[in-house]
Amino acid sequence: MCFFDMYKFSCGDWKWGNFRQHCQREYRTGETCGTKLVFQTINQPEKCQFCERIERKQRRYEKAASDVKRWQCEPQKYRCSIEKAMTDMSTLAQEIASIVNEKNARYVNIGNTRRNGHR
Ligand SMILES: [Zn+2]
Ligand SMILES: [Zn+2]
Repeated sequence: MCFFDMYKFSCGDWKWGNFRQHCQREYRTGETCGTKLVFQTINQPEKCQFCERIERKQRRYEKAASDVKRWQCEPQKYRCSIEKAMTDMSTLAQEIASIVNEKNARYVNIGNTRRNGHR
């Protein structure tokens, strides 16, 4: 078990940072044994890159949704714009879902690692 910094983001997600210290077992070989433990937690004021990307796309999605709502008062006049916005929205929804999957896959792996236990 070797010790690493842990970056904790404002969204609650986290990732490993720099290597800090070898455990007893691996000290002589100079290699890390592959089991990571938290040496120290470094709080990051911003959100993780997954949440940032999700949020940016969500904002665009919400903007398109509110445009559509506004245009629907005059559906004939804005038909093309509405269609385009609807297409954008379904693309954005797919992109958001795929980032969420990517994020979950990544954090499931981290979740399996032990997070404490100094010895
Ligand atoms: Zn180790
Ligand atoms: Zn996040």
